[in-house]
Amino acid sequence: MNALQAEIAESILKKVGQRILPDLSEFETIFSDSFSRYRNELLKMADETRRKHVGDDVFLRGLIEFSNYCSCACNYCGISSYNRKLKRFRMTADEILNTVKYAYEIGFRSFVLQAGEDKFFDENTLLSIIDRIKSGFDCALSLSTGEWPAESLRKFKNAGADRYLLRIETSDPVIFGELHPDSRWEDRDHCLKDIKNAGFQTGSGILIGIPGQSHAVLYSDLKYLIDLDPEMIGIGPFIPHPDTPLGNEKGGDIETTITFLALIRLYLPDSYIPATTAMGSIHPEGRKMALMAGANVLMPNVSPVENRASYELYPNKICLNDNALKCTKCIEGWVGEIGRKVNMGYGHIVRNSSSGRDKSRPYG
Ligand code: SAH
Repeated sequence: MNALQAEIAESILKKVGQRILPDLSEFETIFSDSFSRYRNELLKMADETRRKHVGDDVFLRGLIEFSNYCSCACNYCGISSYNRKLKRFRMTADEILNTVKYAYEIGFRSFVLQAGEDKFFDENTLLSIIDRIKSGFDCALSLSTGEWPAESLRKFKNAGADRYLLRIETSDPVIFGELHPDSRWEDRDHCLKDIKNAGFQTGSGILIGIPGQSHAVLYSDLKYLIDLDPEMIGIGPFIPHPDTPLGNEKGGDIETTITFLALIRLYLPDSYIPATTAMGSIHPEGRKMALMAGANVLMPNVSPVENRASYELYPNKICLNDNALKCTKCIEGWVGEIGRKVNMGYGHIVRNSSSGRDKSRPYG
């Protein structure tokens, strides 16, 4: 690295530290080899920002994958209707409730219900499940059940669901269209705004390493997420699934994923960011690395072990055989090793205007 490159790297770090958006060429530099000596500095800044704004707790959310039936044929997703090889399962409402009860007894007070786009779970069925969970258990509840009309979202919120997770996946409408033959980017974007308007704590995010994702696209992803300003942001590497049309693609790498996550922490300092299972699936230390670069949430799978292998969004998914109790003990161990502590409470996101984004101050 020559003196000029060092000067550029220093000035980029300074900008990021002041929460000023880099320009596209500076953004590209962050992901280039010439910046590698400075990358650790960036990750340290993100870790420090995490500590300052959301503390040392690592919030656990118990993930219940309740159906892998899906009417969408998303090109990258292992449970898409495209995958004829997959064994399909659907939990009954009682099974879902029993799973909540089991994890609740272990100590979980925050749950995420996730599924494919399964028409069996229509509005009334979901409403009744939300109601039974929220009236039976003192807990926070997130939904991750795809796109719904604004009216349904409002009903889910009124029934007691607290949060809604829906990734934009990419800010590029053309790439989005190629990945999702059944959905339109504009609808996804609109739905995210409906989720916010319904009063949910909103989660969104993107996949790293999808075909066609240049640094310019990643840059626009960052800007999209800053503008949307969701309470939670999930960043995960795309992992090619052999039984999907994108099975032979390269997929996302850990370095790009962690660097992008760190930037998210730096520009959205009070957001809640999971160290995703996908990160742990492409690198043995992936979730630990994410927690040390800005993440503060883990979403261990508490679903019945017999269903887990069939909820195969991507291959080599970790923790398929460990029940929730074993998983929790394991997590407590390695989270403790990095000087952090597990928090099994509601994990509600407290937005403090002085610590979060100062809306009066535009980026860039
Ligand atoms: N039907 C719900 C839940 C989808 S699964 C919805 O559409 O929101 C949750 C997330 O898994 C998706 O948002 C996607 O980002 C991720 N995912 C799916 N396939 C994946 C793959 N092959 N590699 C990595 N992540 C994947």
